[in-house]
Amino acid sequence: MPYDPPRSLSPSKLSAFRNCALAFRFTAIERLHDPSTVATVKGTLVHTALEQLFWNHPQGGRSQSAASAELDRAWVALQEDDDFRSLALRGDDADAFRSDAGQLVANYFLLEDPDEITPVGIELLLEARLGDVLLRGILDRLDRTPDGELVVIDYKTGKAPPPAYQQSRLTGVQLYALLCQEVLGQRPVQVKLLHLKEPTVITAEPSAHGLQGQRTKTEAVWTAIEQACRDEDFQPKTGPLCRFCRFQEFCPAFGGDPSLAAVTMGVPDRGAA
Ligand code: SF4
Repeated sequence: MPYDPPRSLSPSKLSAFRNCALAFRFTAIERLHDPSTVATVKGTLVHTALEQLFWNHPQGGRSQSAASAELDRAWVALQEDDDFRSLALRGDDADAFRSDAGQLVANYFLLEDPDEITPVGIELLLEARLGDVLLRGILDRLDRTPDGELVVIDYKTGKAPPPAYQQSRLTGVQLYALLCQEVLGQRPVQVKLLHLKEPTVITAEPSAHGLQGQRTKTEAVWTAIEQACRDEDFQPKTGPLCRFCRFQEFCPAFGGDPSLAAVTMGVPDRGAA
């Protein structure tokens, strides 16, 4: 097989392949370096603060000031982080970055009261084999309701999608629900996207039928990936995401040569494994 398929499939890789097979080849197969952006690093900082809020503070102690203290600690640690350093933020830009992160953490408290939450997993890695594919995902948080039901929580620091796109954005968390069902033997009653920017919550209730559909689609995408690897055929799919694509100069849809990407961009991104 000319290209080796990835060892596993995550919800983000799955959606990357569906968005554009060629961009997927660059990131998930050739593992070309994926530079950090202000948005991704800020997202990591906010996720860390909320993760530590639940790790370090029992119910009754998860106050806004506790979250601020966790954000302060995460901000200090971030100064030594290579991804953050690569942004080279100085002065007002660094202040704006820190201030935005503080606002996102403060907004979290408008969406739920963490003292009422019983998490059973934070940054929970789940893996399940579905046919030929190893599906792998890290849940931001998995909660247990007073009735013993499971709820999957995903924090989002980017802009919430307009209503027409909300259900498609839930596909990733539906896959987390599928992982819970496969690994823990229990289908979550809800999956929730906590959009911290607006702030707003988008909720879905996974059905047995819906999860079976997700399973079928996942297996079909995996078959398509294996086929694309065998045939060395990863077609570009133009759309709104092209505007943000760092591989545009190597994309035939924009007059580029894909074979030059690995030579020009060099270092594989080990984090993409
Ligand atoms: S520019 Fe668009 S079509 Fe080309 S690789 Fe990037 S996302 Fe795909």
